[in-house]
Amino acid sequence: MAALGVAACEKDAEMLALIEELTANAGRVQERVLAEILTQNSEAEYLKQKCDLGGATDRATFKAKVPVVTYEDVRPEIQRIADGDCSAILSGHPITEFLTSSGTSAGERKLMPTIQEELDRKQLLYSLLMPVMNLYVDGLDKGMGLYFLFVKAESKTAGGLPARPVLTSYYKSHHFRHRHFDPYNVYTSPTAAVLCPDAFQSMYAQMLCGLHHRLRVLRVGAVFASGLLRAIRFLQLHWRQLAHDIATGTLTPRVSDPAVRAAVAEVLTRPDAALAEVIESECAGGDWAGIVARIWPNTKYLDVIVTGAMAQYIPTLEFYSGGLPMACTMYASSECYFGLNLRPMCKPGEVSYTIMPNMAYFEFLPLEDGLSSGSAATGAPLQLVDLARVEVGKQYELVITTYAGLCRYRVGDILQVTGFYNSAPEFRFVRRKNVLLSIESDKTDEAELQRAVERASALLRRWGASVVDYTSQAETRSIPGHYVIYWELLVRSEGEDRWPPKEALEACCLEMEEAMNSVYRQSRAADGSIGPLEIRVVRGGTFEELMDYAIGRGASINQYKVPRAVAFEPIIELLDSRVVGAYFSPACPKWTPQPRN
Ligand code: AMP
Repeated sequence: MAALGVAACEKDAEMLALIEELTANAGRVQERVLAEILTQNSEAEYLKQKCDLGGATDRATFKAKVPVVTYEDVRPEIQRIADGDCSAILSGHPITEFLTSSGTSAGERKLMPTIQEELDRKQLLYSLLMPVMNLYVDGLDKGMGLYFLFVKAESKTAGGLPARPVLTSYYKSHHFRHRHFDPYNVYTSPTAAVLCPDAFQSMYAQMLCGLHHRLRVLRVGAVFASGLLRAIRFLQLHWRQLAHDIATGTLTPRVSDPAVRAAVAEVLTRPDAALAEVIESECAGGDWAGIVARIWPNTKYLDVIVTGAMAQYIPTLEFYSGGLPMACTMYASSECYFGLNLRPMCKPGEVSYTIMPNMAYFEFLPLEDGLSSGSAATGAPLQLVDLARVEVGKQYELVITTYAGLCRYRVGDILQVTGFYNSAPEFRFVRRKNVLLSIESDKTDEAELQRAVERASALLRRWGASVVDYTSQAETRSIPGHYVIYWELLVRSEGEDRWPPKEALEACCLEMEEAMNSVYRQSRAADGSIGPLEIRVVRGGTFEELMDYAIGRGASINQYKVPRAVAFEPIIELLDSRVVGAYFSPACPKWTPQPRN
């Protein structure tokens, strides 16, 4: 049996033994988990009436009777729970809250039901992370972690259940707020700062405390790469005020939340002119290369997810961090936490996640030629593969059955098997299905972009103009990143004065933002984590050149389709060299925590 390595302490040894046990018996653990889930939820309407499972808890009956579903299939059940129906609909245990996924349905966040005990399962997965990290990095108990963690706005469903992002739920839980002291998990951010709903105050307090503990910081992180880059941008914008507060031992009145002020006062107990001087001398020159390593010189690694959509941030993070290693530690979602990276110090391109077989029941839909097998077109039943039976090299779509009552639910993630740890497969995250553009947690698909372009281009009619063709790019070199939409316009009447004026094209930018899903609008309007949408008008004939370029590289002229998003640098260069005008959204789109009707 492969052993992970020598544990750093007794508690770590227990956790590593648990990983060994779970991965060595993946098949058996999965069978037990399925039986537990089906027993717990046997009286729930979904399994009892809709699937007619008759109390069976075995795999064969489950696979024969329970259909593979998407969110749209279970939306009616979820809506009833959200509206206040407390009967056992999906789960035998009471649904305690909804976790709002960054995936959307009809433009609104998906609502994922959860039950109380799920927090224990999440906690268990979190508790495996440091024992694994300690195998690769020594001495993490001798200092602190600077983690930028945030809560987001939450709402209540019509039936009164909280609806909030999974991390907001976790940070507000007893598990996080009253966690026991653990020398390997000492954070610079006071809990009150993490829990402050005001993004500026929260970030300011976390940055200030991170600077105060400058020499004790051994790792710097955020959940996603985009979050860490926002923190760096915040430092660029506010270092003068931060240095001032450190030099004087005061806290700017812009942080007004009494709990945050009290927590910061406990950290910043006296003026520290020497520290303020260091911050000023590092920031004042305007040289931001390697700023993380310069401000926090003892940092051993960045703890941040740079797989999937976040891979686009790797070069920028390398620039600001001075080439520090990036550790991607876990893979999780609102529906369920999946697993962890057993080699967290590997290169970003080599990251694989091992799904922990105790978290839920996992099945895998093989992907053939990029499409899930058993498509609706052929009508053939979907052939799902069990966790322990997936094959190395193959790609699959992840399907989960959770304790909270999602049954054979398609998550939408495409994974590739890279190997096995004991009998548990390791997966590379390949992509999320149907995502065209993503800056942060937003996921905009092709249909959403198409609708947005249609809505905005309608505003051009009065100028006798229309959009001939379009494509887009997630621009992530600037912080925060923003959507760039390339438009080729056709203007029917000749003459300069018939060209739509700047204000008209800016209005198109805003109209497009108004048409985007609620996750996008929240990131723009409430969190400021996405910058204003930009339209770049390209000169006539550009999209034909784009086609010529693709055909020159081997694309078939008959099958050529305009890509609705581009990431390939030569294509972006081609588009940018043809730009005749660039316009930005002049305001934020409307957003409220309550779903739109
Ligand atoms: P949400 O439900 O909004 O928390 O989003 C969960 C989704 O984020 C997952 O289904 C993945 O598509 C993506 N995700 C989460 N963790 C990772 C990771 N470590 N690497 C790549 N993508 C991830």
